[in-house]
Amino acid sequence: MGSDSGTNLDRLREELRGPVLAPGEPGYDEARSIYNAMIDRRPAAIARCADVADVRAVLAFAQDAGIELAVRGGGHSGPGLCLIDDGLTLDLSLMGGVRVDPGAGTAQVGGGAELGSIDHAAHTFGLGMPSGIMSTTGVGGLTLGGGHGHLTRKYGLTIDSLLSADVVLADGAFVTASQDDHPDLFWALRGGGGNFGVVTSFTFRLHEVEDVGVGLTVWPIDRIQEVLRWYREFLPSAPEDLNGFFAVLTVPPGPPFPEPIHGQKMCAVVWCYTGDLAEGRLEAVLAVANDPAPPAFHFAAPMPYPALQGMFDEQIPKGLHWYWRGAFFDAISDAAIDVHERYGGALPTELSTMHLYPVDGAAHRVGADDTAWAYRDAMWSGVVAGIDTDPAGADLIRQWCVDYSTDLHPHSMGGSYVNFLGSKEGPERVQSTYRGNYDRLASVKRTYDPENFFRANQNIPPAAG
Ligand SMILES: Cc1cc2nc3c(=O)[nH]c(=O)nc-3n(C[C@H](O)[C@H](O)[C@H](O)COP(=O)(O)OP(=O)(O)OC[C@H]3O[C@@H](n4cnc5c(N)ncnc54)[C@H](O)[C@@H]3O)c2cc1C
Repeated sequence: MGSDSGTNLDRLREELRGPVLAPGEPGYDEARSIYNAMIDRRPAAIARCADVADVRAVLAFAQDAGIELAVRGGGHSGPGLCLIDDGLTLDLSLMGGVRVDPGAGTAQVGGGAELGSIDHAAHTFGLGMPSGIMSTTGVGGLTLGGGHGHLTRKYGLTIDSLLSADVVLADGAFVTASQDDHPDLFWALRGGGGNFGVVTSFTFRLHEVEDVGVGLTVWPIDRIQEVLRWYREFLPSAPEDLNGFFAVLTVPPGPPFPEPIHGQKMCAVVWCYTGDLAEGRLEAVLAVANDPAPPAFHFAAPMPYPALQGMFDEQIPKGLHWYWRGAFFDAISDAAIDVHERYGGALPTELSTMHLYPVDGAAHRVGADDTAWAYRDAMWSGVVAGIDTDPAGADLIRQWCVDYSTDLHPHSMGGSYVNFLGSKEGPERVQSTYRGNYDRLASVKRTYDPENFFRANQNIPPAAG
């Protein structure tokens, strides 16, 4: 920001209701720490916006100062897209309120909210929203990328429940995008990431969700061939009330797992059942888990939906070191199973994992060009995540992740869920994420952000004029 940056920031501070944090000031280091501890960047300032007026002031300030801007929702992006060295972070974390209208069955959600805030606010009315599998993930980044989780097969992607979004554009204009107003922008926001503006508020349709049946089945990793061959047939033909994401993992050293399997490499399915929870029903539905091979551990119980959403929060808290890569799959081929067997048996750390999230069911009932999310024909969205508590393991988890995802690539559909793209994967990977929707996205970008002001993201440059 140049030598007069102190004066500049003072001007910004005068305009904002929220605080502006600069290097060396109390709160700065906490504000620049994000979920993935592998990201260690030092922005010139972090502006915590309290309202839309603050957002507009920060955008105007960044434009005037010619400083690069990043937007922070929940700070969960793997490559740390919400922080740029020497840039300005527009931090939405103070704008995390949720207002549920139980009569209308909708929720208005601040652009900096965490998923758990929606789950909590909606649950008291017997309502819930399809989102991700961890309550600490930001609604902003997750929704703008698409959003999949335990309720995807039943209620679709998060974007399929989005009714409208309040957006501050690069030129400071404030618009509400919906099916009727700014429909092109609304289309692009549903999967196109943070390329088009700052979303200050989302309005979602909620769904009837109270208690859900939760299950976890784990099998020894040396049974992965039988388990995956069974899973690839069973899950797509199962009722949409049943979701089950597949994982390779190391069994954590504590309850509910019996001691003899602590620390063992396993494969697993995490179940979520939104059907009838009458006595014995969940157990009956999940009895199929015995089919491929005898489980090493099996658990099933009804629980409130927010409890399921928070189930992994303690196990993988903020502050771990992450490196991830994603891919879409329309099938799980025999050759892909061989790859999963090879790398699942060689997990580099106790927390490293691979997940296959189902994206079929209700998500398939939306057309490939109805929203920017271009993989309505994918059956699974996969992610390989190297995770470690120790920064010294960075090379190890990175190499395992790159090798695993490179070997899987020929058995994938080519692109990846935009929210599972890593850093510096290159423009071709962004294009392959959007397939036939890419050109329209670039053209919407030209209309709404012709100077590519919002480029701290998986960037879609404006189409040439
Ligand atoms: C532990 C973990 C679990 C996850 N599980 C799931 C899952 O189950 N399902 C799933 O779909 N994804 C999942 N993800 C991926 C997640 O969707 C992405 O990391 C997403 O980018 C997180 O959004 P955020 O707002 O927290 O991130 P941030 O780092 O704050 O932002 C990410 C990107 O979104 C932009 N952005 C964020 N908010 C706004 C806004 N309001 N307006 C404009 N731009 C904005 C930012 O500029 C940035 O480019 C998971 C991630 C982690 C780390």
